[in-house]
Amino acid sequence: MSIADNIRSLKNETDSISVTLIAVSKTKSADEIMEAYNAGQRLFGENMVQELVEKYEKLPKDIQWHLIGHLQTNKVKYIAPFVSMIEAVDSLKLLKEIDKHAEKNNRVIDCLLQIHIADEETKFGLDHDEAIELLRSEELAALNHVKIRGLMGIATNTENQKQIKEEFYELKSFFEGIKQSFFRKDGAFDTLSMGMSSDYKIAIEQGSNMVRLGSTIFGQRVIKHWKNN
Ligand SMILES: *Cc1c(COP(=O)(O)O)cnc(C)c1O
Repeated sequence: MSIADNIRSLKNETDSISVTLIAVSKTKSADEIMEAYNAGQRLFGENMVQELVEKYEKLPKDIQWHLIGHLQTNKVKYIAPFVSMIEAVDSLKLLKEIDKHAEKNNRVIDCLLQIHIADEETKFGLDHDEAIELLRSEELAALNHVKIRGLMGIATNTENQKQIKEEFYELKSFFEGIKQSFFRKDGAFDTLSMGMSSDYKIAIEQGSNMVRLGSTIFGQRVIKHWKNN
């Protein structure tokens, strides 16, 4: 199947159940992204700031770009003018920096808090206590140029379906608890981003409403620079 076919069939599958499809285009060329774009896809995810900025400059301006990878505070300024959502926020310090640059650009930037759910030390993210502490802080209440839209998580990279299911179940439960405790009057806390190519069906079963799919759409990634693809 071509990239365009993949987009059409995945969009059918996800649109019908109100799940948002993010096409993860990291390492992929402008031509490959345009094939997905021409098949109707407008939401794309990248995990490196420099690659995201270069693609933003080169590609159609109605693309909504999500930064899905870890973001360093000193790089916020490069994406603040245009990024549609920052999915992997994992500290108050980073939120403050996003707020500062969003204000300079006269924008409010949508953010997700990344919650650590995997059984691996290398994955970024907040644990439950850290997320609650962040949400309770008075400093957060003073930030007017960031909007926390929900949570994001990455399950353990394992063949064990039961474990993946439990991790997604845990994140969905935590999402509902946070919504009740902190966002009861705020309908905009509505996004639960979980699920990648290998586990998105399980994620959707467990209540995800945003999936981030790369290889299922574009094929396997080989490590080379996107411009040389
Ligand atoms: C690369 C990446 C994805 C997509 O991975 P696939 O397995 O290719 O679908 C999703 N989320 C994040 C955070 C990623 O870095």
